[in-house]
Amino acid sequence: MKKIALATLGCKVNKYDSAVIRGLLESNGYSFVPFSQKADIYIINTCTVTNKADYQSRQLIRRSHRLNPNALIIVTGCYSKRAPLEIKEIPGVNYTVGIRDLKRFLSLVNKFSNRETQPEIYDNFPNFAEYTRAFLKVQDGCNSYCSYCIIPYTRGRSRSISKEETIRSIFKLTEQGYKEIVLTGIHLGAYGWDLEPRFSLFDLLRSIEDQGITCRIRLSSIEPIEFSDDLINLISSSRIICNHLHIPLQSGDNDILARMKRPYNTLYFKDLIKRLVSKIPDLNIGIDVIAGFPGESDKNFKNTINLIEELPVGYIHVFPYSRRPGTVAAGFPSQIDGKTIANRSAALRGLGHRKKEEFYNRFAGKRLSVLIESKRDANTDYLKGFSRNYISVLVDASDDLINKEMSIRVTEIQNGKAIGIMNG
Ligand code: SF4
Repeated sequence: MKKIALATLGCKVNKYDSAVIRGLLESNGYSFVPFSQKADIYIINTCTVTNKADYQSRQLIRRSHRLNPNALIIVTGCYSKRAPLEIKEIPGVNYTVGIRDLKRFLSLVNKFSNRETQPEIYDNFPNFAEYTRAFLKVQDGCNSYCSYCIIPYTRGRSRSISKEETIRSIFKLTEQGYKEIVLTGIHLGAYGWDLEPRFSLFDLLRSIEDQGITCRIRLSSIEPIEFSDDLINLISSSRIICNHLHIPLQSGDNDILARMKRPYNTLYFKDLIKRLVSKIPDLNIGIDVIAGFPGESDKNFKNTINLIEELPVGYIHVFPYSRRPGTVAAGFPSQIDGKTIANRSAALRGLGHRKKEEFYNRFAGKRLSVLIESKRDANTDYLKGFSRNYISVLVDASDDLINKEMSIRVTEIQNGKAIGIMNG
């Protein structure tokens, strides 16, 4: 039987899409090997959110061709949607396939394996390589068109999975043993707006909560303007929703926010973070920030740094601005030079490390509910896991704890990790 290797770049939605492809091909009898090994078929799920993502996608394609020049290479995901001709020119690429065209994935793989006569099984339930945490895509696409973002052009209009299907999938994943499910979407806060009758993320979460589900639920990124009071109160009182939120800020300067077409200002953002932290105990908030948006002056950038200094956030994801052809901002004058973008990104990352350390230190001596993962930490060989509020915890314990949620007391913070003990 032909062996398949699958590589995924980019966001959690891409991870989910890859897990669906893996689930489909495994249920048709195919097995997977790590991407670093020689395989007969390589599938690369690309990302195009930055120049770097494009570059990494091309590198993975080239690496697969080097590993086996006779392999079938199928490229999918946002980069191949945005620039299929560019992808097809890379040596070794056989096909680009739309991420939702599962039928074509299966028929190409079957054809290459001379299996046309086998009945095809269309069980497109995701299968994740890691067995503790599963991603569940409940929404895809975006209608917002922020001026820097290519995603609405590659992923299309916002569309949601029904409440019933979401709940069925959660039950199926918990039956399979997953202890944490990350609800993901490209624009998760827009969940349900396209459904008839209109629904919302709050409605969905309340229905999930009412089912008596036992696994914990983590929410991926939610836009600042999409936190209703109902949603905040629900997260605050929930048994299962993790006290961890990821909220894109993008800039701490009002002029830049307006030119990014972001529908809030810094005062609104500050107030939101204050409300969230006061309502949700021990909440960890992560933010996204773009460094070097066109026209960003030293003063604009300073405003961003000053705002983040003030905010009680636990970590920062820094995105060096990347000019995406086809977006409005790609045509803006005063594009910022690469060196300035790199310096500003480094300053933001430094601030992010400090914020993370401050946040982690608040929990020294306290107990956290940690879900232990299946792989040990490579440096210490300790078991590792994440708390509900997304603190990375290491604990020296036996494999019996794998895939269990344990109460761990944090004894010290070391190199960006919390070290904990079970008893004591
Ligand atoms: S909300 Fe803005 S940044 Fe997020 S996917 Fe939509 S267009 Fe892109």
